[in-house]
Amino acid sequence: MTAPISFFEQVNSNFDRAAALTDHPAGILEQIKAINSLIHFTFPLKRDDGRMEVIHAWRAEHSHHMLPCKGGIRYAAMVDEDEVMALAALMTYKCAIVDVPFGGAKGGVKISAHEYSERELERITRRFTFELFKKNFIGPGLDVPSPDFATGPREMAWIADTYATLAPHDINALGCVTAKPVQHGGIQGRTEATGRGIFYALREVCSLGRDMRPLDLSPGLEGKRVVVQGLGNVGYHAAKFLEEEGGAVIVGLVEYEGAIASTRGLHVEDVMAHRRATGSLLDFPGATNLEHRDLGLELECDILVPAALEHAITLDNAARIKTKIIAEAANGPLSADASQYFHEHGVMVVPDAFINAGGVTVSYFEWLKNLQHVRFGRMEKRFEEKASRQMLSAIEQATGTSFSEDQLGSFARGADEIDLVNSGLEETMIKAYHQIREIKQRHKDIDLRTAAMVSAIDKIVTVYKHRGIFP
Ligand code: NAD
Repeated sequence: MTAPISFFEQVNSNFDRAAALTDHPAGILEQIKAINSLIHFTFPLKRDDGRMEVIHAWRAEHSHHMLPCKGGIRYAAMVDEDEVMALAALMTYKCAIVDVPFGGAKGGVKISAHEYSERELERITRRFTFELFKKNFIGPGLDVPSPDFATGPREMAWIADTYATLAPHDINALGCVTAKPVQHGGIQGRTEATGRGIFYALREVCSLGRDMRPLDLSPGLEGKRVVVQGLGNVGYHAAKFLEEEGGAVIVGLVEYEGAIASTRGLHVEDVMAHRRATGSLLDFPGATNLEHRDLGLELECDILVPAALEHAITLDNAARIKTKIIAEAANGPLSADASQYFHEHGVMVVPDAFINAGGVTVSYFEWLKNLQHVRFGRMEKRFEEKASRQMLSAIEQATGTSFSEDQLGSFARGADEIDLVNSGLEETMIKAYHQIREIKQRHKDIDLRTAAMVSAIDKIVTVYKHRGIFP
């Protein structure tokens, strides 16, 4: 029996499949695949009850082709060096796909976060930051972490504060980490960015009649039947925007405690309110409870959005999935062989490295905001409003019509930070999708995952060539 390949080897085998479709020199491809820097370190933690414990932590910087490096920090009992390397490599490719000018990185602290008090977590986070600082693994121009499993804005605020204390002369200190709370240098729209990005991407995917016809679907999101697994940050926001802004019909929702279905459609906000009130999705008025949560994934629909965890769909359940499109909202929700199965059976899989890249995209905007020391929209908002009002008043005079105050207010509105963030995110997702789609069309019979990887490789090679490192 052959040993299963490691996560990092799995990422590299996807890379090799895509690389074989390019004619880049072998040396440059090897350089792209290699982990550029990796540290494993340990530090002591004094628990609240006085016991001492040794904490293991890693940071992998996969690629220095662009600096800073960017990637989350996860707190998980199972995290190890291989996982951190694999996720760092995926970040490099994800950033390249959506033209975010960073190399990929990932960090891990080997703890079950729920077994530690808030004070202990703060001590761990601050010491972790101190160790990264000592080793030159953090800084606005070097390496910029963000949240991942079991970390969030609270931890990011601790990291920013620790870094600023250690680097008092760094005027860009706030740019050392992203997804901070807005009042601590964060940016509007970061919380919902991944879900919003999934909505923009799916709206674009579904808008192209030529691509919908082979799936036997009409163009447009309106009326498409959607099932979402996982109503956390990503799944909840994706479901909400697909329903409220896309006009999709949410026919199934799947959570840890069970799954519900309704062919008439589930209003996501009402379901969330019901879950908050009762502690469960189940027994939502007008919906059917399914016998087991896994049956939710097998509901008939047009778009399935697995947004919970990795390996939700494997060869064990692939044949029972009844959808035309799968949007990989989570990281790695499909096993490699399940992905191949869907490709062979005409199901469109929109890959994670593209479709969940909204979070890192808006993190990039936050980093830009921190470096420019001014909120987006502050300089131009009022100027734009005045200019638009003058134009509307000229139209009124020339045509003899007059706009109501409400109309003037809405036509002549200057852009706020959130408008600009969403506009930048929308542009990013649409442009990246067309780049991937064009590569898929050029190479007959490849899936979108391979096309996305080819897109990433081509862009990284271009950077190396411009730096004169490779001919
Ligand atoms: P989260 O913890 O907020 O949400 C996950 C949800 O999935 C939870 O509500 C949980 O109860 C549910 N869940 C867990 N097991 C389940 C099961 N077996 N069946 C149904 N539901 C289950 O996490 P998140 O931030 O939404 O991330 C979800 C996935 O998206 C992860 O794979 C993450 O790596 C990926 N991702 C997140 C972001 C981001 O910005 N948060 C960005 C890119 C990728």
